Amino acid sequence: MRWISFSANFVTALPKIHRKALASLAVLLLVAFLLPSSNSSVSTPLPLDHIVDTDAPLFEVPKFSIRQLKAPWAFDTVPDNETLLVPMGGQRNSYQYIVRTGDTLSSIFERLQLPQKTMYQLLEADLNVLALDNLKPGHTLVFEKQDQLLQRLELQFSLAHKVVYQRKEGDGFEFNEVQLDGDWQQKLISGEILYSFTGSGKQAGLSQWEAQTITELLKQRVDFRRDIQKGDKFEVLLSRQYIDNEATGNNKIEAIRIKNRRHEINAFLFEDNYYDEKGRNLEKAFQRYPFNGHYRKSSNFNPKRRHPITGLIRPHNGTDFAMGVGSTVVSTGDGIVSRVVRHKYAGLYIEIQHGQSYKTRYLHLSKSYVVKGQRVKRGERIAKSGNTGRSTGAHLHFELHVNGRPVNAMTAKIPIAVSLTGKKKEAFQRQLKDYLAKIETANKQQLVLNKQNANTSTL
Ligand SMILES: [Zn+2]
Repeated sequence: MRWISFSANFVTALPKIHRKALASLAVLLLVAFLLPSSNSSVSTPLPLDHIVDTDAPLFEVPKFSIRQLKAPWAFDTVPDNETLLVPMGGQRNSYQYIVRTGDTLSSIFERLQLPQKTMYQLLEADLNVLALDNLKPGHTLVFEKQDQLLQRLELQFSLAHKVVYQRKEGDGFEFNEVQLDGDWQQKLISGEILYSFTGSGKQAGLSQWEAQTITELLKQRVDFRRDIQKGDKFEVLLSRQYIDNEATGNNKIEAIRIKNRRHEINAFLFEDNYYDEKGRNLEKAFQRYPFNGHYRKSSNFNPKRRHPITGLIRPHNGTDFAMGVGSTVVSTGDGIVSRVVRHKYAGLYIEIQHGQSYKTRYLHLSKSYVVKGQRVKRGERIAKSGNTGRSTGAHLHFELHVNGRPVNAMTAKIPIAVSLTGKKKEAFQRQLKDYLAKIETANKQQLVLNKQNANTSTL
């Protein structure tokens, strides 16, 4: 694919839909010529590329047409007649695209007639975040074009999280991952089990994701089908993130208490991990290395690494191990496989989500033994190492992410211990007291509120 240069023979080479769009553009132009206009720029015929590149509307046309005219490339329309690219208000040469069902990066680039070379340059920069190959409907892409080149691409996952790819001298892109802190608002959700925890939790105000996360977290301690019965009580203290008063969808479950007839099941978040009231780790511990046996480390984690030739920042967000093709790769913790993907540069790779806070990635594999959605255990064989994607020799590239950020897996404080001791335990106990006080306060407020409601309803 090339940039559109509107020469006569190129027009005939355009797909039917583009020819149609051009035809309607021509009609609009004709109308513009016939209309009296104070804008002198329409009095002489303009080369088409001039018109489609312009920022200011040349004449009054229905709104959707202005959008089409303002888009510098691809007039392609979708069945609902919405334009694909929406100009961003006030920003020159910026256009927004909302990812739809079935889209992939290459299908989007093809539809927007962006060069494949640009896509590969982006994918190369993205190797360090692996965000672009995981587009989901509703994600937003903002394209910024200048001098016939894509200068900047912004991928917005949510209000609080985006990745920006910026063109640099040296023919490539650098990325910057932006995560906003926002306001975290704490909330207590409590209730009584009617049929199931998930059902009653959702009725009380938990999201599907929150209810599932809790079930997953406590499944070692409690059998939700057998042990939880009608009349059992639950309390969940959580924080939800807001930016400009809008929920971002990010949340943290901070404390869980479920009281059934016989006992109480507790979970408290402390330094990215969950513990019971005695400070015992609820999540199974991790192992440090993604294999059994010993392999030489061939490259360290280095967030500031530069490309030796281009000078572009190319962080090394993982640790490399020299492993011959076909060596056994294991999951470093219990979790659920969130991706099994073939990537031009990362090769065949696997991503595993471990509870709420942790994620691991295994790149350049030759074979995967798992599929997306599959549960895996710590130490379980998940793949054979390899030399796929851009790799200068057989090796395993291993990444650990904590709360969405890559960390050095060799030095990170991963939960290896079973119980908290010493100073850590003291800090945990202070945190626990704080959680319990908050739950108590929230409960009291709720009680007052309920009484008020009861009073008003009897009036
Ligand atoms: Zn590596």
